[in-house]
Parts: sequence; C-alpha cells; structure tokens
Amino acid sequence: MDRLSSPKVLKEVIKKYGFRFNKNLGQNFLIDANVLDKIAEASGIGENTGAIEIGPGIGVLTQVLAEHAGKVVAIELDSHLIPILNETLGQYDNVKVINADALKIDMNAIINNELAGMNVKVVANLPYYITTPIIMDLLEKRLNIDSITVMIQKEVAERMVAKAGEKEYGALSVAVQYFTEPNLIMTVPPHCFMPQPKVESTVIKLDLRRQPAVSVQDEKQFFRVVKAAFGQRRKTLVNALSNSGLFTMSKEQIRETLVKLEIQENRRGETLTIMQFAELANAIF
Ligand code: SAM
Repeated sequence: MDRLSSPKVLKEVIKKYGFRFNKNLGQNFLIDANVLDKIAEASGIGENTGAIEIGPGIGVLTQVLAEHAGKVVAIELDSHLIPILNETLGQYDNVKVINADALKIDMNAIINNELAGMNVKVVANLPYYITTPIIMDLLEKRLNIDSITVMIQKEVAERMVAKAGEKEYGALSVAVQYFTEPNLIMTVPPHCFMPQPKVESTVIKLDLRRQPAVSVQDEKQFFRVVKAAFGQRRKTLVNALSNSGLFTMSKEQIRETLVKLEIQENRRGETLTIMQFAELANAIF
C-alpha cells in the first residue's frame, strides 16, 4: 500500500472525507517518510512490541508501526478521524483504533488487556498543547512500559534533557530524569508537517528506569522541594523554600539543614543536581 505520509495520498484522503484540520487539537500531520522511519527505528519496536500511539491523525505513523510491531493500539480524540483511520489502516489486522482522550483513558487496562505479554512502548507525534501532561501522566502512573519515543516541541525536549545549572533546567528536567533516561534523537523542521507548525520539533526517546534515578523517602516531598526551588527561580534557595509555605521548618532551620548538606544557602535552586534535591527532600520538613 502507498505510504500515507506521501503528501499526494494525504491530500486525497483529506479531500475524500472533507477533513478540516483542528488547530486546537494540535493537528500537524507528518509528511516525511524518512522522519517516520527514524522514529520507528529509534523506538526499537519489533515483533514482540505492543505499541501505544497517542494521536494517530490519519495514520501515517500508525502504518509504519503496524509494519514493525506485533500490535498497535492507537488512541485518537477527534471522532472525525475514526472513519478515515478505518479506511487507511483497514488492511492491518494488528491495529486497534480507540476513539478516546489519551489523558482520560485507562492505560493500564490497555497494557493488560490489549498488549498482555508484550514489551510495551509508547510511540507518537504528540499534540503539542498537552505534551507535558501526557508524558507526566504516563510516568507518574508507573505503567509497565519500556520507553516513550515522541515528537515534541524542540524547546520542551531541551528542557527535558537539561542538566543542573543550564538555562533550560527546571522542574520538568528533574521529573523526566528522575523516571527516565532521556536522549534526543533528531530535530525536525516545520516543512516535514502538514500544516506546518510555527515551531521546530524534536524526537526524544525516554527509556524508563527500573528504579528512579535517586532514592527518596517520600516522593511527594521530593517533588514539593523541586516545585518550591523552581517556583521562585530568582530567589536564593533558602528564601524560595521558606517563602513557599510548603514546609513547617523555620527559615533558620532550613538554613541549618542546607549547611549540614553542604549546600550554600545563597545558591539558587536551579543549580542543584537531582541527587542534591533528593538529599534535601530527605532532610527538610
Ligand atoms: N500521528 C499523526 C501524524 O504524525 O501525522 C498525527 C499527529 S498530530 C501532531 C496529533 C494528533 O493527536 C491529532 O490527530 C489530534 O487529533 C490528536 N489528539 C489531540 N489531543 C488528543 C488527546 N487528548 N487524546 C488523543 N489524541 C489527541
């Protein structure tokens, strides 16, 4: 079958169904076959893979996944795309399309019922307006998945891989690196999509860690400390933590705790490594 990513095929499908792109749903469809192949290759999908795709659009990536993976479950919110997907992917008996919101669907049920016994990988060209909630949702639920290979906005990808002290380093960097090992795969320019997005895109692969990067006594407390430290980025750590209202310790006690941990009180939160955030979370209350 013709590749759906060919602009000619895409235009024909759109015309046949009178489909209109919905900007609010982040609909920018890929029209570059090389990029699709690279995503599939980077994701490491194979016969024993159960792939979960979020937002199949008209199925350009789904088609490539179906050709390599054991099974693909594609979750699409826009009901206008469902009859299109039924046609474009009709010949693949290893694809299941579900009309649902990826943020509300029970991913555990999909993994346990649809993809039982398979190595599950999430592979997607994500809708950019909900990139972070989708990825954090997948990570926080501690789903039984190997990796997440996704196309996202370039700036967001750079924040995910940023290290302590770098400009892009923030709460998202810490959260992503706590749960995964992130690797940038490739940058993708706007002309690889229809319609073209206003921003550059990046394919990133997040390999899920078996254990979080650091050991913390209380995960909620760890993320509270991270939130407080980055909540007031321009303040020193001692001020940001004591002003946050998230801890019962006095400012002086926080200062003493920092001294004990050999973290200078006038440092800014954005200079702390994940390990230092963990030590701080274990010592502060
Ligand atoms: N995978 C296709 C491609 O590469 O051409 C389409 C990618 S497009 C960037 C994002 C897709 O996600 C759109 O089809 C959009 O309708 C869908 N979408 C948006 N919000 C969604 C949600 N909450 N749950 C599931 N799909 C969603």
